[in-house]
Amino acid sequence: MTVRTRAAATIAALLSTTIAASPATAAPARADLTAAVADRLHDRVSDPTTADRATVVTPARQHGDWAIGTAVLTTRPGSPDFPDGRLFLARRTDGTWTVALEGEPRFAELAGQAPIVGDAERALLVQHDGRHDGQVSTTAGGDLRTGMALPFAVGQAWTMSGGPHGWSGAAAPWSSLDLAGGDQRVLAARAGTAYTMCTGWVRVIHDRGYATDYYHLWNNINVNGAAVGQGAFLGNTGTDVTCGGSASGRHVHFALRQNNAYVGIGDHNVGKWVPQNGASA
Ligand SMILES: [Zn+2]
Repeated sequence: MTVRTRAAATIAALLSTTIAASPATAAPARADLTAAVADRLHDRVSDPTTADRATVVTPARQHGDWAIGTAVLTTRPGSPDFPDGRLFLARRTDGTWTVALEGEPRFAELAGQAPIVGDAERALLVQHDGRHDGQVSTTAGGDLRTGMALPFAVGQAWTMSGGPHGWSGAAAPWSSLDLAGGDQRVLAARAGTAYTMCTGWVRVIHDRGYATDYYHLWNNINVNGAAVGQGAFLGNTGTDVTCGGSASGRHVHFALRQNNAYVGIGDHNVGKWVPQNGASA
């Protein structure tokens, strides 16, 4: 169906999903930043199949004893499983790095102190403190008005080639939409601070604990903590799977996050649309 017309809502299969909290295991002290971040990421992802998944750590800004960047646990390109990506903040004390990932209480604490974090960025990152970790639900506290537009220009005819589905295939929560069409220019759904997680993958951190992911992009912008306005160009639709996952045709895999986890996009207000979950992903 095209997203210019208001489609009849499909029967909403209301998902009530709880994300299990990952064990907060302390990583061993590390003098090497990249190794310290990789250790922390492996600690946070409880999936036992992750041992052979490569980690891509990008310390985009480092100054003195502080660093901020992105960490992605990849999957094989073409795999039905998608990569897992987090922002990280790190502080070096007595020669060893302490790492906090997006979604951990320590992340907000470091974001409040780090001199390498800009003022506008700091205001958004300190909200991502993991307070709701372990009790994330699709209800978003009952307020589902995201203040977001669809990730393309008004007046363009785009097609939703995939209704609500998981970040990684059918896995709940159904956070993601597949969109393509028009001028194929993918735009920020709301103002925020943008990060390139991996080639083809941009995350924008918004206010009120929301964030949006855009994957499979071609010609993606390369940013780390850049302020973007609503409608800022992020890249073109594409089929990029550099950090893993699959894309059968050109599109943007657009996903909603809140409080550092993917949340069901169903019933959330996005532009003039309120996506509804279908019977299957
Ligand atoms: Zn998708």
